[in-house]
Amino acid sequence: MRLDTKKFCEVLIVGGGPAGIATAVELCRAGFKPEDILVIEKGAEHSYSIQKFYPEGKRLDTDYRGEKATCEGVMCLLPGNRESALSTIEYFIHYYGFRFMVNEGAEKIAREGDHFFAITGQGDFFARYAVVAIGILGKPNKPEYPLPAELKDHIHFDVTSAPIKNCNVLVVGGGNTAAEYVQYLANENKVTMSYRKKEFSRLNEINEDILIKMKHDKTAEILLGTDIRSVEKQDGKIKVNFKESEPHVFDKIVYAIGGSSPEAFLKMSGVEYDGKIPKFDSNYETNVPGLFLAGDLVFQKGTIIKAFNSGKTIAQEIARRAGKTN
Ligand SMILES: Cc1cc2nc3c(=O)[nH]c(=O)nc-3n(C[C@H](O)[C@H](O)[C@H](O)COP(=O)(O)OP(=O)(O)OC[C@H]3O[C@@H](n4cnc5c(N)ncnc54)[C@H](O)[C@@H]3O)c2cc1C
Repeated sequence: MRLDTKKFCEVLIVGGGPAGIATAVELCRAGFKPEDILVIEKGAEHSYSIQKFYPEGKRLDTDYRGEKATCEGVMCLLPGNRESALSTIEYFIHYYGFRFMVNEGAEKIAREGDHFFAITGQGDFFARYAVVAIGILGKPNKPEYPLPAELKDHIHFDVTSAPIKNCNVLVVGGGNTAAEYVQYLANENKVTMSYRKKEFSRLNEINEDILIKMKHDKTAEILLGTDIRSVEKQDGKIKVNFKESEPHVFDKIVYAIGGSSPEAFLKMSGVEYDGKIPKFDSNYETNVPGLFLAGDLVFQKGTIIKAFNSGKTIAQEIARRAGKTN
């Protein structure tokens, strides 16, 4: 295949969220020219998952998973909110000036000879090294029971795609995302949270404390140990049939039950899996030499600072191989 030099770069980064951007920033700091690095982002803006899944004004915890966060590279965040985090990330994009293309989603990365290429809507991009940083939030998990098509307008997988106001809402899930949706929605709705386990085990301390207080103050109802059997339409609302308790009726349901790893992308790119987890070494390089994975793809419990740090590790390794000495 002929190389189109306009679309050739040293390092191609797929995914313009915290991990992809930190990798690009650290590559610049390690001696790569900004024009040698290309980030392609399938959303309309950088950090698209954050823009889409974090409610406006959402508190930003740096030790999000309850572990102390230490920044290893130049990119770091202070506790703040969604907007302060996004403007910090944006500052780094502008300051380092690497190539960043939005509305460019890749289906896979393929290796041909000693190059990688990615095919997108706008053409083919070639690179010597490739970093996949597409996160796990792109495809929200769906429940095992069917979601009737006629309930489409009542069922949500985030709280920003459509306004949810003055409703009786059920939030399904027991992680930090579910907890934060409850807090956000409770401002303008009557909110109930349903989690199938009897206790929370995945919440950070702040979210757990807030939920306990909300339950105590009756600003949200928290139903633990409640497993949903099915949902059905009833008089323009949703009837939720629980396995072990009486049905409840809601205006809307918001599911926050995690996202699946974009296994198809990685498998099509030749990445081997160990069960449900992609294989990678201590530099986050996969079995495909020169193909690295960053951010949520490599962490069971991802955070923004961990995503930044994975970018630093990858950039150092690529710079070492490329003989960069700053
Ligand atoms: C509601 C919620 C609240 C959270 N709160 C916090 C918090 O307070 N503190 C904290 O530290 N962490 C928090 N997290 C976790 C944190 O957002 C993630 O760990 C972090 O965003 C991971 O960064 P990433 O770059 O790996 O992935 P992502 O942020 O998911 O970025 C991946 C990027 O890749 C793009 N992309 C996907 N597929 C393709 C493709 N095929 N081609 C091109 N581009 C693609 C996406 O559009 C996206 O921009 C929260 C998560 C959620 C869902």
